[in-house]
Amino acid sequence: MYDRKKFISELEMRNPGEPEFIQAVSEVLDSVLDFVNADPEYIDARILERITEPDRVFMFKVEWENDEGEICVNKGYRVQFNNSIGPYKGGLRFHPSVTLSTMKFLGFEQTFKNSLTTLPMGGGKGGSDFNPKGKSDSEILRFCRSFMTELQKYIGPETDVPAGDVGVGSREIGYLYGQYKRLRSENTGVLTGKGRNWGGSLIRPEATGYGSMYFANEIVLKHGETLEGKTIAVSGFGNVAWGACIKASELGAKVVTISGPDGYVYDPDGVSTQEKWDYMLELRASNNDVVEPYAKRFGVEFFPGKKPWERKVDIACPCAFQNELNLEDAKALVASGVKYVIETSNMGCTAEAMSCFIENKIPFGPGKAANAGGVAVSGLEMSQNSLKYSWEASEVDAKLKRIMRDIHEACVADGTEADGYINYVKGANIAGFRKVADSMLDLGY
Ligand code: GLU
Repeated sequence: MYDRKKFISELEMRNPGEPEFIQAVSEVLDSVLDFVNADPEYIDARILERITEPDRVFMFKVEWENDEGEICVNKGYRVQFNNSIGPYKGGLRFHPSVTLSTMKFLGFEQTFKNSLTTLPMGGGKGGSDFNPKGKSDSEILRFCRSFMTELQKYIGPETDVPAGDVGVGSREIGYLYGQYKRLRSENTGVLTGKGRNWGGSLIRPEATGYGSMYFANEIVLKHGETLEGKTIAVSGFGNVAWGACIKASELGAKVVTISGPDGYVYDPDGVSTQEKWDYMLELRASNNDVVEPYAKRFGVEFFPGKKPWERKVDIACPCAFQNELNLEDAKALVASGVKYVIETSNMGCTAEAMSCFIENKIPFGPGKAANAGGVAVSGLEMSQNSLKYSWEASEVDAKLKRIMRDIHEACVADGTEADGYINYVKGANIAGFRKVADSMLDLGY
């Protein structure tokens, strides 16, 4: 039998100084402990020790030259966490907060998220502590070239397929893929999130945000309501927030906030016109990492240094960064009557915030389920690349919608509690874990 306290203290000893990784494992452990302890096969196989240890971690030096001609040095990472159900798959994050701990937490989460998509993808993650903020286009290009010069040694279309994440969008994927092709002379589609002219899938840029709203729609329908007329607080203003704003509008809901590191914008009419969506893309492409110009442009209020969770809304939808919504924010949302929380960022809520929502019986869709649409369409991009074919947008969108519906059903099946409350965290963790763990048992050690 596994004992929670003992397992976590041993995990901490094996992984010192990795708080994000310990937080991610603890969350999964809380959901799956009883399930694992009920099956002697898992216990005999030491499944928890094995599933929490990455297969391997690459750490490397990235040297590049800035526009002033100075040599800069960053850290590069690729964590190949688990390939039991398919090639390692997961994004690359360029952000100054990137450490081994954040890479491992994201790779661990990715393993279960990818399992939930029903597609054959293992889990991996990579990135760098490189800060894209304020960098010129040619600096980004030089950094990406240097990063890929090393990364290409560890990836391949059947072994490990990276994609984008925070700080890595279609421009960076282009520069990275260009360098890969220069070095390897291969058109294998080794990255996903590619441009539509050179092997990318339609709907991939929109997929994470669209998927999150499809998932929200399923949750709301399950609770006897619809998204029609619901107000939504979204955080972030990048690719994920953008897709969420578009799909929310299409489904009849109204996104009233977006945010950045500088504060949040309150747009009572909703972020619901093509002009506003296009402007979000412009803001992101400017590399300034501020959202205030949106308020000036559309004549709405900006709240410097504040988070959108102080607004009264029906649905809270964190779309930016890990631990962006804490206990205090959760209490404020509960007090103002929030009905649903759709965590669209990876581990967007602290453990305490998540518990607060669950204790208050608020349906809470965890990141690994709610944001799985992005990697799901990456999986569909891999399928199209293998077929040397491309599907129409409507075909990809229909597949995405079906995948999000299946993920919701899996959460309901494993997460419904005795009193009828659907614990989506528990459901997602058990459903994601079971497939990976059973594959590990099938494959031996
Ligand atoms: N970075 C995204 C995620 O967290 C997408 C990964 C991918 O498409 O491989 O799931």
